[in-house]
Amino acid sequence: MAAIDGLPPLRDVIRDHELVAKKQLGQNFLLDLNLTAKIARAAGNLDGHDVLEVGPGPGGLTRGLLAEGARKVLAVEKDPRCMPVLAEIADHYPGRLEVINGDALEVDVTAHLRTPYKIAANLPYNVGTELLVRWLTPKDWPPQWDSLTLMFQREVAERIVAQPGDNHYGRLAILAQWRTTARIVMSLPPEAFTPAPKVHSAVVHLKALPEPRYPADAKILSRVVAAGFNQRRKMLRASLKSVAPDIEAKLEAVGIPPTQRAERVTIEEWCRLARSLETN
Ligand code: SAM
Repeated sequence: MAAIDGLPPLRDVIRDHELVAKKQLGQNFLLDLNLTAKIARAAGNLDGHDVLEVGPGPGGLTRGLLAEGARKVLAVEKDPRCMPVLAEIADHYPGRLEVINGDALEVDVTAHLRTPYKIAANLPYNVGTELLVRWLTPKDWPPQWDSLTLMFQREVAERIVAQPGDNHYGRLAILAQWRTTARIVMSLPPEAFTPAPKVHSAVVHLKALPEPRYPADAKILSRVVAAGFNQRRKMLRASLKSVAPDIEAKLEAVGIPPTQRAERVTIEEWCRLARSLETN
């Protein structure tokens, strides 16, 4: 029986194309089209928007994005075995799906999409964090994308939305929340995927702010935060010594106790400290 979009059910697609999941490509497929439509809706109103999808695999989320009204989906998939399946979806939605067979870490998508575009993906776990960091650190802000709707391992999702004092609070939380609003919008048990991964997953929605929450130079902020969390159990006066020899005075000048630990420092405080280091 055909699925709601008139294309074959994903179980049949996988069987007919012999798409046996490959662990080294982080392949855990979503086969429930109701679920992929729900993830697509979490990306917001897709009408008239271009969407970049990384790792479409057999196309469950791709079909959700197209059915939910994306103007165009650009799908970047590393596994050549998925190309025939994706070509069938492209035929079903003429002119709305472009597929690139390549590595998302290497492909330049800018010429293919109308800005601001949305990014939506059930990410391969092995490259998910690296892609997120790249999307969060473009040369200019606002970035070319307007929102990211991304599936991660639950633990990574928690690192993105963590608050000062939380176990998971660190570089990723600061990087994400400095220039976006970030929320976990869905949690999924292992059984939602085929094959089931060992861990739980979650979808995070990040909406780009027009400008950073607090002013700071991105490079200085990144350097100081990295130094602070590299030795997260140490007091800032020790962990940040490499950043500036007079760090203790600098911390005091911006109202942060030098005995504080990185995991308790708010984003506003990190930005204040970064600004005070601009003259160094
Ligand atoms: N979106 C599909 C779904 O939800 O069923 C598949 C998700 S699966 C977790 C990750 C997908 O990313 C796989 O299809 C895998 O082949 C692809 N992939 C892995 N590494 C990649 C890379 N570097 N660039 C592009 N795609 C990649």
